[in-house]
Amino acid sequence: MSDFVHLHLHDQYSILDGYGKASQYCELANKLGYKAMALTNHGNVDGVIKWQQSCKAAGIKSIVGIEAYMVPDLRIKKEKEKRYHVVLLAKNNAGFNSLLRMLTVANLDGFYYRPRIDPALLLEHCGDLVVGGACLESYINMEGGIDLLKQLGKKTDVYLEVMPHAMREQAKFNQHVMKVASDLKVPVVATNDCHYPEKHHAKLQEVLLAMQSKKKWKDKGFAAGANRDVIAKGAEMLGVPLDDLMAEVIAGMREQAAALGLDGSLAGQGG
Ligand SMILES: [Zn+2]
Ligand SMILES: [Zn+2]
Repeated sequence: MSDFVHLHLHDQYSILDGYGKASQYCELANKLGYKAMALTNHGNVDGVIKWQQSCKAAGIKSIVGIEAYMVPDLRIKKEKEKRYHVVLLAKNNAGFNSLLRMLTVANLDGFYYRPRIDPALLLEHCGDLVVGGACLESYINMEGGIDLLKQLGKKTDVYLEVMPHAMREQAKFNQHVMKVASDLKVPVVATNDCHYPEKHHAKLQEVLLAMQSKKKWKDKGFAAGANRDVIAKGAEMLGVPLDDLMAEVIAGMREQAAALGLDGSLAGQGG
């Protein structure tokens, strides 16, 4: 369990799609013996300082990233567009700066309901990032998504994600991911797309989602998705061990994440 690294996780800064403070996640993760954990909120890095402080207090290596919204062309804004997801993890300070640059463009030029990036922007700034496949809304499902994965793979480290959620679409997508990964020789990691620290928080996450989608409780047209807590479903449970390359990437990131401390005092963070 303790070698598992959560690489896809949302906290209270995930804009009404994530419940739980960094400190709650980190205290729990510490008890469970996790050594490193990533924060990947939707389209922003606002929670990063608290995340790093909480990780430091709990003796956990912090990995910093986002789950970005991707469209084919960020300048085109049309009703009912489909937005895709991509997880971006900073390898080092330069990677964090790349995230900030992309988020600036996403907010100033690409904003349309959400801050949006596109393949051209990502390819320009991906050098110090590790690019993860994200969830059912993965960018690999976008038109040209597989080609983008190949291009990204030439420029930096990429991986795809399988998730243990008990939904037919997820099981089907997991199979698709394994096939693409094996065809293109891309590593696969298991993630839980955590949206709350503990199981009994699932209902609170549903309340947040209801607020975000402006739905009433009785409408029930929303669902938090079960088992998106931090405890559940480590890689071992899926039988999908962390690939050697990813393990190496993560090992490097553990060291480099320390240098990301925005207040400076976190530099050299150990553990
Ligand atoms: Zn997603
Ligand atoms: Zn997510």
